[in-house]
Amino acid sequence: MTHRIALIPGDGIGQEVTPIGVRCLEALGKRPGLDFAFTEFPYSCEYYAEHGAMMPEDGIEHLRPHDAILLGAVGYPGVPDHVSLWGLLLPIRREFQQYVNLRPVRLLRGLTSALRNRGPEDINYLVVRENNEGEYSEIGGRLYDGLPEAMAVQATVITRKGSERILDYAFRLAQSRSRKRLAYATKSNGIKHTMPFWDEQVAAMAPNWPDVQVDGYHVDILAANFVTHPDWFDVVVGTNLFGDILSDLGPATAGGIGVAPSANINPSPDMPSMFEPVHGSAPDIAGQDIANPIAMIWTVVMMLEDLGEQEAADDLMGALETVTGEGRVLTRDLGGQAGTREFADRVLAELRG
Ligand code: ATP
Ligand code: MG
Repeated sequence: MTHRIALIPGDGIGQEVTPIGVRCLEALGKRPGLDFAFTEFPYSCEYYAEHGAMMPEDGIEHLRPHDAILLGAVGYPGVPDHVSLWGLLLPIRREFQQYVNLRPVRLLRGLTSALRNRGPEDINYLVVRENNEGEYSEIGGRLYDGLPEAMAVQATVITRKGSERILDYAFRLAQSRSRKRLAYATKSNGIKHTMPFWDEQVAAMAPNWPDVQVDGYHVDILAANFVTHPDWFDVVVGTNLFGDILSDLGPATAGGIGVAPSANINPSPDMPSMFEPVHGSAPDIAGQDIANPIAMIWTVVMMLEDLGEQEAADDLMGALETVTGEGRVLTRDLGGQAGTREFADRVLAELRG
């Protein structure tokens, strides 16, 4: 089967790690029955500098016919974050209704956690963030500007449809895992309208998933437990803002920014999902062949899983973890000396067997 992949290398180290993702896919594409067709798009801050927009007006339409989008990173000094965000990432997430932001938090073999005395057996969970609504709404505004009474009001929008679909995804995911545990983040002791509504949706759905153990936590104590008891967690779901915070905290305990993968998923087959490392374009280390490509390789594993290529995903993850487990070839952020390409070569050699 040929999977059509849209590539957006973007800026900075995005341009260095995306070709490594492609090399992994090309190696796997040599197998019978598995193939990839790549189309590269130059959407980036460089494109913005030239054209005044991150992508052409019909950019979204060019991406639509693909089975998945693989993004490196966008961002460049001098181009404000809101330009790359509102000009590229948010339109893609919204237009293709990628309402799931999924981030695995798992300490790979051979890597050291920022948490003392915690190993791979303690840190293995998935953070599911609602990606389309919630706290990040455009509803609100300012009153009495410049006066002592000045204030700002920001509405949170949690819809039944939006919470049902993210919770359905989270329950399904928990059901598919061996521990079958679902933790959800709330704050219904302090937030009076939206959070009790969210809790009600969880309570209404839980009986449909009798095998799944559901635990509710206020987000503050949940964050603390990511640090003190990471072993309690299996699948963790949160609204947009809470999920945002938790999905940065979790990976920080499991090897950090050079390792962390993510996916923006629309589970329906009609629209492409987008896969991207958590890290940004990291201009401080760009062009030096020192960026850690693990985040990109793991991101490609997530993409393969989403495309239904579980065996290829397992083989690539296996090759990656063999190399981290040996601990001989690692990039500088993990205490090694290897370059980006050297590390990737080692993984590819392992993959080819
Ligand atoms: P952007 O503006 O695109 O978000 P950034 O400078 O914020 O870029 P981040 O990706 O958020 O970059 O990373 C912050 C720092 O972490 C970088 O400056 C870099 O030193 C380090 N870093 C990020 N990604 C990697 C990586 N893949 N390998 C090694 N170090 C990394
Ligand atoms: Mg950044």
